[in-house]
Amino acid sequence: MATVKIQSLTKSYGAVEVIPGLDVDIADGEFVVLVGPSGCGKSTLLRMIAGLESITSGQISIGEKVVNNLPPADRDIAMVFQNYALYPHKTVGANMAFSLRMRRMDKAEIDRRVARAADILGLGPYLDRYPRALSGGQRQRVAMGRAIVRDPQVFLFDEPLSNLDAKLRVQMRAEIRELHQRLQSTTVYVTHDQIEAMTMADKIVVMQTGRIEQQGRPVDVYDKPANTFVAAFIGSPSMNLIDGVVVHKDGAPFARLGDIDLALPRIAGLDENREIIIGIRPEELKVAEAGLPAEISVVEPTGAETLVMSRYAGRELTLIDRERRSYHSGQTIHLTAKPEAIHVFDRKTTNRLD
Ligand code: ADP
Ligand code: MG
Repeated sequence: MATVKIQSLTKSYGAVEVIPGLDVDIADGEFVVLVGPSGCGKSTLLRMIAGLESITSGQISIGEKVVNNLPPADRDIAMVFQNYALYPHKTVGANMAFSLRMRRMDKAEIDRRVARAADILGLGPYLDRYPRALSGGQRQRVAMGRAIVRDPQVFLFDEPLSNLDAKLRVQMRAEIRELHQRLQSTTVYVTHDQIEAMTMADKIVVMQTGRIEQQGRPVDVYDKPANTFVAAFIGSPSMNLIDGVVVHKDGAPFARLGDIDLALPRIAGLDENREIIIGIRPEELKVAEAGLPAEISVVEPTGAETLVMSRYAGRELTLIDRERRSYHSGQTIHLTAKPEAIHVFDRKTTNRLD
């Protein structure tokens, strides 16, 4: 196991700067998830850690060692890709053993490692099968087996579950977490799926266009998103964001939204007339006697809760109701939220206030 330290790292392809400079510290044994929309540079960053892509400037260290110029084979990492492409004409056992054979490892040691990985992944009964005779989940497990046998200092995963159906994805998510608890290995996991990120990470790193927007524990990022990008990206359905202006009444701050005022939390920086964006999570939006008048467009009961989509002043507002009220499209409801449930962002910088 090892730490991974990324300092002032940049990457350009020709004249195109893909990563303008970022820093990430990954602790020994930590499970870090890089999450962000497609094209934000996640795979590029992961491939630079792996040594599959050159770095333009900056430094990457694994353990105490600077690995900038080390070839992938000498970095003591193992990577699992989205397209994990097993060798179709090799058995499960041979697929897992392949990289070790290439390194001319002792046969007894290879057998021992393959047996251990198969045991960890529940693949023991399938070692003599060919990939075509496996389910999607089993194939994914073989791909992880190939990584485990190498007993690396760091595991790198690049969207390993993207090709699986939804149910299997949830199951494999739990398996990978369990695997991590068992092996305690430092892991960098890339996904565009914020639910995967929230559920799996010790630390979540939210990226946009090659930049880190925020990093921290999943709950902290959820509870205190650093800006409107993170606020909208983390959480499903997305946080409702509404433009407003700060007004003061009897010394207390309010957000003026059209002709409705909502009480704001008493935080610093709420100067009169400041242009802000307020954020309210769907589960914090409440129906009340008075509030933002919104017209319901769609009602989606899911059983445990009901998702209510509505429109206010041209904006879509989403509410999650767990009290089984009845709603119908076309109905006007009044929406409000407790001051402490309201996030406040500066409209120009989009950064969180407080
Ligand atoms: P992600 O994995 O987050 O979807 P990538 O790291 O694959 O994003 O890509 C980040 C950006 O770098 C994208 O704009 C992509 O088009 C660009 N890019 C990736 N690889 C190359 C390459 N070999 N040459 C030029 N541009 C590339
Ligand atoms: Mg990618």
